[in-house]
Amino acid sequence: MKQAKNYKFWFATGSQDLYGDECLAKVAEHSKIIVNRLNESGVLPYEVVWKPTMITNEVIRRTFNEANADEECAGVITWMHTFSPAKSWILGLQEFRKPLLHLHTQFNEEIPYDTIDMDFMNENQSAHGDREFGHIVTRMGIERKIIVGHWNDRAVQEKIASWMRTAVGIMESSHIRVMRIADNMRNVAVTEGDKVEAQIKFGWEIDAYPVNEIAQAVQAVSQSDTNALVDEYYDKYQILLEGRDEAEFRRHVAVQAQIELGFERFLEEKNYQAIVTHFGDLGALTQLPGLAIQRLMEKGYGFGAEGDWKTAALVRLMKIMTQNTPNAKGTSFMEDYTYNLVPGKEGILEAHMLEVCPTIADGPISIKVNPLSMGDREDPARLVFTAKEGPGIAASLVDLGNRFRLIVNAVDCKKTEKPMPKLPVATAFWTPQPNLATGAEAWILAGGAHHTAFTYDLTSEQLADWGAAMGIETVIIDNDTTIRNLKNELRWNSVYYR
Ligand code: MN
Repeated sequence: MKQAKNYKFWFATGSQDLYGDECLAKVAEHSKIIVNRLNESGVLPYEVVWKPTMITNEVIRRTFNEANADEECAGVITWMHTFSPAKSWILGLQEFRKPLLHLHTQFNEEIPYDTIDMDFMNENQSAHGDREFGHIVTRMGIERKIIVGHWNDRAVQEKIASWMRTAVGIMESSHIRVMRIADNMRNVAVTEGDKVEAQIKFGWEIDAYPVNEIAQAVQAVSQSDTNALVDEYYDKYQILLEGRDEAEFRRHVAVQAQIELGFERFLEEKNYQAIVTHFGDLGALTQLPGLAIQRLMEKGYGFGAEGDWKTAALVRLMKIMTQNTPNAKGTSFMEDYTYNLVPGKEGILEAHMLEVCPTIADGPISIKVNPLSMGDREDPARLVFTAKEGPGIAASLVDLGNRFRLIVNAVDCKKTEKPMPKLPVATAFWTPQPNLATGAEAWILAGGAHHTAFTYDLTSEQLADWGAAMGIETVIIDNDTTIRNLKNELRWNSVYYR
């Protein structure tokens, strides 16, 4: 997988020189202990770096500017151990351009009832100092995350870990480059959008290449490289001939192996991390990329079908945000296909013509070769499996003409009641929260697409925080959604986001 940088987060403790050197020494000692314990916890996906106590205008401004300039710094975590007059923070905050976390904690977990005196109170007053700091950040209208609780509490550490992934998504968004080897499918509205605005808002670079340039890269892949990859497929996956001739089947699989290698080399050479295809615009490619795209998604590339560059970039963003997640369950391009409307068993069958990422697979993965009902090419090989159970989120980014809206639905993935032996594609099955009727009505009211970026490994909150950092509207549909409130939210947002 194409990895993001080895990011770090700076820990900046606020204080002032009013309380004397002894107090400041304690402040520094405490914040060093917190940083060390956070790093030792094993909970955080990225390292925290201790910084000298922020006591003056000059130190604060310099630290934030150093954070801006340090390519490995993905954000700053602030905490006011004592009181820290917030006017001292204005200049630094004005110049700071990276994600900000306000960790509202304090060194001691419990009030030391028997020994507490005024010296202790002055030294440990984040309930006081963090309110002063929070006020100025609010007054300045700066997006930040606030996490409240004791720093050694695992739940608090998990919240910090979650925010770190969002912060890395914010930092890496501007490095996402999507290669379009096909335009948007004719007459389709929801997959269209303003590519210039996407670059301004998200930093995404969306570029077109003639499909035959990448087809040449595919043709340039040697027979021996192709055969070696086919052998790897045959080792790794179950082969379901389903009556097809064995040699013919293998030839079809080899076409996908050659596409995988050719596409990956072309993307690598030109520095793109996501790609879109279109079944109606394949040039010299002899099959619609199926198995090949599934494998590239597994390696961390973003993908969107039918020219859908917004979803391709969103899938790549999710791949970055979930990178190295312990026990990750997977992230994929997805499409809402067909419903089960039986009362008590409602859900949406999710799939695509071919392109579902095997990271979401539960159990064995098979290769099938089957005709496509659309397009005019050879029967493509594809990986077939069913997806894991459990909660996930499906996200859609739409262009409303004057602005973008991100729609996120929390969904509960399940097994279908029965197997579907005649369906030659990978599938997931989920019930949108709060239920199919309200979830689907809310999704349609918000203008959500049929294509989504889906993951088990992020939360709606993480995507909403990313959206806030990008300055766009995020609509969350989950167990708290009611249609009456959602309609009002959309009305109010239409005034706020102009
Ligand atoms: Mn589609």
